[in-house]
Formats: sequence, C-alpha cells, structure tokens
Amino acid sequence: MRLSRRHPRYASLKVRGRLADAARSGLVVPEGLIAAGRGEAFDYLLGERTTPSARRAERAAAEWLLAARRPVVSVNGNVAALAAGSVARLARAVPGLAVEVNLFHRTPARARLVAAALRQAGVPTVLGVQPTARIPGLPSDRARVDRDGIAVADVCVVPLEDGDRTEALRALGKRVISIDLNPLSRTSRAADLPIVDDLVRALDGIAREVRRLRRRRARPRLRPFDAARTLSAAGREVARTLRRAAARPGPP
Ligand code: ATP
Repeated sequence: MRLSRRHPRYASLKVRGRLADAARSGLVVPEGLIAAGRGEAFDYLLGERTTPSARRAERAAAEWLLAARRPVVSVNGNVAALAAGSVARLARAVPGLAVEVNLFHRTPARARLVAAALRQAGVPTVLGVQPTARIPGLPSDRARVDRDGIAVADVCVVPLEDGDRTEALRALGKRVISIDLNPLSRTSRAADLPIVDDLVRALDGIAREVRRLRRRRARPRLRPFDAARTLSAAGREVARTLRRAAARPGPP
C-alpha cells in the first residue's frame, strides 16, 4: 500500500508496514506485532515524544555505556526490524559496544535473519547467532547468550525485553538499561536504568549523548540513577494526557 506523507498518522503507519513486512519474512514473530501494539498505545499516552525525564535517562545511559568495561546491546526481531540503523549508529559511537542477537522465540533461521539485518545496517560483528553460554535461572532458549557478549557484560542495554530476563541479568550483578514505552512493565520496574521512550528515539538519543560526552572529553562514571523517579515521571505524563482528554474530549 502507498502511504501519503500527509496522512496524520504517517509515521505510525510506516512503522506498522515495516513490521508487517518483517513478520512476512520471518524476522518478526506474530507475538512481536502484539508487543508493538502495546508500545504504540503507551507512546500515544506519552505524547509520542521523548519526555524530559526520558531524555535525562538517555543521558545517564550514555554515560554508563562509556564507563562500562564490557557494554552490550541485545537485539530481538522487533529491534532489528525497526531500529537496525540506530543500533549500528550506537555501536559506532560507543567504543567496544557488543551487539548480540537475543530472541524470546529463537530458531536458528530467525537468529540468522536478525544478524543479517544488523550487518546490512552496518554492524560489523554480531554475537549470539550460535549461543555459547547460559544465564542461570531462566528456562529454555531464553537463557541462551554469547560467552563474549551478555555472559561477560557489565552493562546491558535491553530494548523490548521481558521482565524475567531483566531480573535474571540483574541477579548476575549486571547493570540493566531497559528501553520500554510501558512504565508499568516488569522490565521497566526491574531495570537499574529504565528509559521510557520509543526504541528508535531512545537509541538515537543515547548515541547523540555519547557523541556529546566524547566531544567534551568528559570522564564517564557509573553514577547512581533514580529509577523510581523516572518511572513516576512517566506515570505523571500518562496521567496528564488522560486528565487533559477527560477535561476536553475530542482530538488531542
Ligand atoms: P514484561 O515482562 O516486562 O512485563 P511485557 O509482557 O509487558 O513485558 P513484552 O511483550 O515482553 O511485554 O515486551 C514488549 C514491551 O516492549 C512492551 O512493554 C511494549 O510497551 C514495549 N514496546 C513495544 N514496542 C516498542 C517500541 N517501539 N519502543 C519501545 N518500547 C516498545
């Protein structure tokens, strides 16, 4: 279908089209489409923009990634379909950032598709296609990771992760930076540094902050981050949107 740029929901229709194509190719699973719908709903409620508290979280995440000894970003089908270019830009900006395929619904063919999408976007090395280690305490395939990536990472960026894995990573002493539009998800609640923002905006926002910090030659530190505060701020944004809609029904 040809989309008119003048359509009021052009950006969102474009994303849906991309995901539908990716589902047809097998890169994205049907469950991934449902997850995207949940994200879209929260984005609506957050005003479809990076909120000031998300921007602060992205700044903190940039500093954590530069201070990390072994940073890694985990990539699933939705992330590869929507943000492979953003992952590549982040990998170029952060020295030593490992990029690892990480699938909830893993098959060797899907892992290869995700890796191919990342390579095509410019990521030279993709880990996790043939996992070589396990995260203890997680069932089945969801535990499988790369011994040179997530297994040894100290800071993990997990966009669109599930709560169990986030908790399992934290139990191993890793610092987890989540990217999830739902401030109520178990992932957002379990992460050390939850970024409540859209995947592409968040990855690009972190990369921008990384470049800024590197230009300033700032000495990065793993500063404490107030996760509860950022989640409350996101909750207040959602509440504000709903209050406004309740007071003034009609188009936003
Ligand atoms: P949890 O176990 O953390 O509670 P969940 O069941 O809410 O997870 P999943 O289906 O595991 O959700 O993961 C999808 C999450 O990703 C959802 O919380 C959704 O809000 C979020 N999400 C979907 N699309 C995007 C996007 N483009 N940007 C950011 N977050 C997104």
